[in-house]
Amino acid sequence: MNQKQRFFSMEDIAGKTFDVVIVGSGPAGLTAALYAARADLKPLVFEGPEPGGQLMQTTDVENYPGYPEGVMGPKMMEDFREQAKRFGADCRYGMVTDIDFDKRPYKLTVDEETELYAKAIIVSTGASAKWLGLDSEQRLRGKGVSACATCDGAFFRDQHVVVVGGGDTAMEEATFLTKFASKVTVLHRRQELRASKAMQTRAFKDDKIEFMWDSELHKVLGDEVVEGVEVINNETDEITTLDDVTGVFIAIGHKPNTDLFKGVLAMDDVGYIETKGQSTRTDMEGIFACGDAMDPVYRQAVTAAGTGCRAALDAEKFLAEVELSDEAVAEEHWK
Ligand SMILES: Cc1cc2nc3c(=O)[nH]c(=O)nc-3n(C[C@H](O)[C@H](O)[C@H](O)COP(=O)(O)OP(=O)(O)OC[C@H]3O[C@@H](n4cnc5c(N)ncnc54)[C@H](O)[C@@H]3O)c2cc1C
Repeated sequence: MNQKQRFFSMEDIAGKTFDVVIVGSGPAGLTAALYAARADLKPLVFEGPEPGGQLMQTTDVENYPGYPEGVMGPKMMEDFREQAKRFGADCRYGMVTDIDFDKRPYKLTVDEETELYAKAIIVSTGASAKWLGLDSEQRLRGKGVSACATCDGAFFRDQHVVVVGGGDTAMEEATFLTKFASKVTVLHRRQELRASKAMQTRAFKDDKIEFMWDSELHKVLGDEVVEGVEVINNETDEITTLDDVTGVFIAIGHKPNTDLFKGVLAMDDVGYIETKGQSTRTDMEGIFACGDAMDPVYRQAVTAAGTGCRAALDAEKFLAEVELSDEAVAEEHWK
């Protein structure tokens, strides 16, 4: 079987039972794959709708340890995958479309068609930033429009940037950006912020931060890079152009990609999977969660990779314990 067939064909795995199936191939999933593969668990990874995860959308990653000159996001994810495959991880294109949680081993359906079984599942389905949906915003994503100040703030040293949003995330992004930017203008569609009082006070005190109330981003200007923004006042419909703006940070929240697990795994209101204590264990036996799918706070490649490592170690421990304590079930189901 050649490499291409191996990637696309599911025939060889249909109906089989795997020790560990990893759902998602961002930094969390591929790190889990590396650790699980080195533990000889022969993990099967489903790469999902965005093979390589969110970093495939970006250019320079400058804050991942081990790359002193920085690295392009897609190159970094190729390195992650190659390292996991070197130890036997089986990475496949395919989206997990259904999981039968009724009994172990869990039955997974891939691309609504192929069924297979997993003794343990690692959920690393990530999260997606919410966007406003403007054409100009989407066209200039990665070219001055971002949803992550920690990732991209340093590219805007001594420049004027805008932050869109009025919650805690927006205030955090705005405050963080003042380390680099000469000026940060926060656009908020209401008269009052939703952010906590403490975050508001911090932002209001900062001389570099200005607020435009009742204001929405109307258009991002520029062909190749951001060259200004148009802001519309939603009370008066008046449009103001800020022509020295070079960076736009959309900070209206993230949505974890966890719909598949709704009603089954414990989650917070937004949909982040809850894990137990320091571990990556979910409230369902044999299911572990890592990366942005369970992390509403840090959302970085290195933290995702860290929890991916933990998930693989937790899964390995779980499998060892179950093999010991549940031989009968193992005999019956896990052939
Ligand atoms: C534009 C941009 C720039 C960024 N820059 C940086 C940076 O410079 N430094 C940094 O540390 N962080 C950066 N981040 C944040 C970083 O990318 C994330 O924190 C990190 O990718 C999270 O990793 P993850 O593995 O949890 O999830 P993700 O990277 O989101 O990967 C999720 C994976 O799950 C898969 N998936 C989803 N649903 C299914 C399913 N049903 N079946 C199978 N697979 C599924 C997807 O295809 C994808 O492979 C950036 C993010 C963006 C968007």
